[in-house]
Amino acid sequence: MSSSAGNAFYLESGQTRLMIDAGQSGRALTEALEVGSGCQPQELAALFLSHGHRDHVQGAGVMARRYKQLSVYATEGTWGEMEQIVGPICPTQKKTFSVGKIIELGDLKIKPFRVAHDACDPVGFLFSNGEKRLGMVTDSGIFTSEMVKTLYNADCLVLEANHDPDLLWNGSYPWPLKKRVAGTKGHLSNQAAGEALAQIIGPRTRQIVLIHLSRENNQPELALETVKGILEENKACLRKLKIEVAPHDQPSNYITI
Ligand SMILES: [Zn+2]
Ligand SMILES: [Zn+2]
Repeated sequence: MSSSAGNAFYLESGQTRLMIDAGQSGRALTEALEVGSGCQPQELAALFLSHGHRDHVQGAGVMARRYKQLSVYATEGTWGEMEQIVGPICPTQKKTFSVGKIIELGDLKIKPFRVAHDACDPVGFLFSNGEKRLGMVTDSGIFTSEMVKTLYNADCLVLEANHDPDLLWNGSYPWPLKKRVAGTKGHLSNQAAGEALAQIIGPRTRQIVLIHLSRENNQPELALETVKGILEENKACLRKLKIEVAPHDQPSNYITI
């Protein structure tokens, strides 16, 4: 489930079950989790937060207070930024991580890396279980060489394709917001997502999920068409890639990597 209005992702490997971001109400997150994955919230080991914006953390406090087994992982900057939004979380459930330091949880290794976004200490994640790797970037104004290096050749890439520049600039957003979205600490356009993917798709990459599409400034078909066009221009082998768009407000297909 992912859009500018709210983002949450579910990941499981062996016995390890995680939620990444919690940008909906506690009730919507619980329902989506059960419908989309069959996982009960009591089975989740941890919630990882990419940054402190409301569309990523809205339900984090409710989930943590309702499900006491849940460890909530965020950078120090994210903890500070989201305090007001999420309310109190039990200190024993609060975990702080740093960019570049690998976190081991069950059979997963999780590497947080820096992204370019106008939040305090925002990150993307690379998840690995020793066999497969999944890279995720939810919000970033640009795609840096460090991100290319970290994500290259992941088996699955989950990447923001937020807006079409024409729809954004001709749309109804106020001017400062248009500038923010298109800025270097804003959001990746469909074009930018395509160009990023052209650099990070490797021989192992099979699955791509485009996320965080704007309702106002994008269309799923347009995002797909633009990204595929850029990949074709860059001689990526589209036949071996499955590319899909995460729906706005319902759980997407459960993907096995
Ligand atoms: Zn954000
Ligand atoms: Zn966002």
